[in-house]
Amino acid sequence: MTPSNAQIWHERLAFDRDHIWHPYTAFGQGPPIFPVVAADGVRLTLADGRTLIDGMASWWSVIHGYNHPALKAAMQAQLDRLPHVMFGGLTHEPAIELARTLVGLLPDPLERVFFADSGSVSVEVAVKMAIQYWLGRDQPHRQKLVTIRRGYHGDTFGAMAVCDPETGMHGWFNQHLTAHHFVPAPTIPFHHQPDERQLEQAVAPLRELLAEHGHHLAALILEPIVQGAGGMRFYHPALLQRMHQVAREHELLVIYDEIATGFGRTGKLFAMEHAGLVPDIVCLGKALTGGTMTLAATVTSAHIADTISQKGPLMHGPTFMANPLACSSALASLRLLQTGAWQKQLARLEAGLERGLAPCRKLAGVAEVRVLGAIGVVECVAPVDMNRIQAAFVAAGVWVRPFGKLVYVMPPYVMDDADVAQLTAAIYTVLEDQGPTP
Ligand SMILES: *Cc1c(COP(=O)(O)O)cnc(C)c1O
Repeated sequence: MTPSNAQIWHERLAFDRDHIWHPYTAFGQGPPIFPVVAADGVRLTLADGRTLIDGMASWWSVIHGYNHPALKAAMQAQLDRLPHVMFGGLTHEPAIELARTLVGLLPDPLERVFFADSGSVSVEVAVKMAIQYWLGRDQPHRQKLVTIRRGYHGDTFGAMAVCDPETGMHGWFNQHLTAHHFVPAPTIPFHHQPDERQLEQAVAPLRELLAEHGHHLAALILEPIVQGAGGMRFYHPALLQRMHQVAREHELLVIYDEIATGFGRTGKLFAMEHAGLVPDIVCLGKALTGGTMTLAATVTSAHIADTISQKGPLMHGPTFMANPLACSSALASLRLLQTGAWQKQLARLEAGLERGLAPCRKLAGVAEVRVLGAIGVVECVAPVDMNRIQAAFVAAGVWVRPFGKLVYVMPPYVMDDADVAQLTAAIYTVLEDQGPTP
């Protein structure tokens, strides 16, 4: 007798549970996981045939929806021609056209592109660039960075060292992590116009730190406007401007990590546009390929790239650097963004998320609801019970993956109003059922 689909998946899931690490999990603990067999548009299909409306866009990346014909066609053509070739001493059309398009989309003077294979690696490269820039200027003592608390920049050691010390688990690895400088997390919310006194108060710790240590620091690194995995916090552009300006006064390079915010997510093509600022180095990733493959980029100015190069080569070169298949998908994704359709999609999503999540404000277990662009966050008063809530969301027909106190969504831009309404209604219902967490 041939085993049923259910029996096959029962065995596979048992194997998965016993042998495979998933992100941020321990063996034998944590909520159940769900097998996905296909995805199209904004819907995931599970092995048992159920479909879920995807609120996560696979961690910010699937901006145009799954199985997009333009991305698929670009990748299929590239697959037949050249799925991969080393980037040392060789180059190819997808990398060149992607870099050309990126440079065109980014503000001046960002024009020198390093392709990395993940967001974390692009942060490593940015840190390396900043240090080597100062070597090129004969200031080898400028090696450390300053950042704001509640940040998230990736899971490799260099990136971890600038993540929030608590959520980044610095205590577990402190023998191994560079001790950078931290100032308090931004306190002025995006939708709250600060006065001069509030701004100066908020930036004072950075001012004081740089007055004392500024001449020893290489760079300020931060996520502009939206702090992602460190707390899903949205802060005011005027505060970003003030921090940027203070860093500049002490000649620090400014690194923006736009890995989560880049490519339209916050309502601007890049979050830096909310503040009208341009950093010295920007990190891009996540949505770069439209969510098909992993690819990231670290982009800087000609001046900085040339100063770095005075010292010698930039010693970084991932095996799969500028993978042509990933570049072809990224190029197709950027072409879709260039049509400008994302702006209407973002405005519609922002309104839909605000409308749909607003009722959560009156739930007892909810501390705050905030929406910016295509990001909707319901912050609970206590950490949610992942075992219960994950299953409840799936039962409600949506894919939402909370962490800690945060139930949040960042849907594919193509999600229509009916699906946004269903997604947000499911969040309301599940949070109402779960009640205030004890
Ligand atoms: C996800 C993320 C990273 C890390 O990217 P990976 O591709 O997971 O290595 C870095 N910075 C920010 C802001 C991110 O959201």
